[in-house]
Amino acid sequence: MTIKQYAVIGLGRFGTSVARRLHEAGQEVLGIDVNEERVEDAEFFVTHAVVADTTEEKALTSIGITNFDCVIVAIGNDMQSSILTVSLLKELGIKKVIAKALGKRHGQVLDKVGADWIIYPERDMGERVANQLLSPNMLNYIELSKEYSVEEIMIPSKMAGKNLRDLDIRAKYNVSAIAIVRKGTIIISPSPEQIIEEEDLLVMIGHKSDLALFANIE
Ligand code: ADP
Repeated sequence: MTIKQYAVIGLGRFGTSVARRLHEAGQEVLGIDVNEERVEDAEFFVTHAVVADTTEEKALTSIGITNFDCVIVAIGNDMQSSILTVSLLKELGIKKVIAKALGKRHGQVLDKVGADWIIYPERDMGERVANQLLSPNMLNYIELSKEYSVEEIMIPSKMAGKNLRDLDIRAKYNVSAIAIVRKGTIIISPSPEQIIEEEDLLVMIGHKSDLALFANIE
């Protein structure tokens, strides 16, 4: 994996978990917060941590923020600081600015000031929990559009031991298997002869309603 440089601004619950995970994965992570205590605590799970008020352009430039490939703005409750920070980062030419929004209005403003990816943690987690309740075999998903997604679905045990051609999933369920996850390894673009085994996860692409039907096969 290539190592990238990430900066995470705002070391609350959300920022902390983004920073921790990136750092665990071997990436370089700079943690930034205006609160000294939060910066001290962060030193255990980031590469460097600094105290700075990111609504001040000077503070951002003296950190060398323009050297970062990607900046995550995890300031939540202080909407004004979040918006100002994103706007400054885009003015400074940061290519990828990811920002957390508290709600729809906040998200719309972040979009106007140039955020490249806006995350709504509460809304998205709520949807994820509901989806998991509706389709217990569905483990993970990526939304491609309002109608289509890619989902990781535990195979129904009655399919184990058969190959993809015989299962004829595309014709029967109108969804396609793009990969199989088997005991941590991944088989990309499985051939029609590929035999499905018990506890395989299928990575499926299709219409959400078709995927939901597939994920609910007993
Ligand atoms: P969460 O809900 O994820 O815990 P919070 O809104 O509580 O998020 O935390 C956001 C963090 O952002 C806090 O630690 C706060 O000190 C930090 N923060 C707020 N404003 C600024 C700013 N202007 N510059 C840097 N950090 C900031």
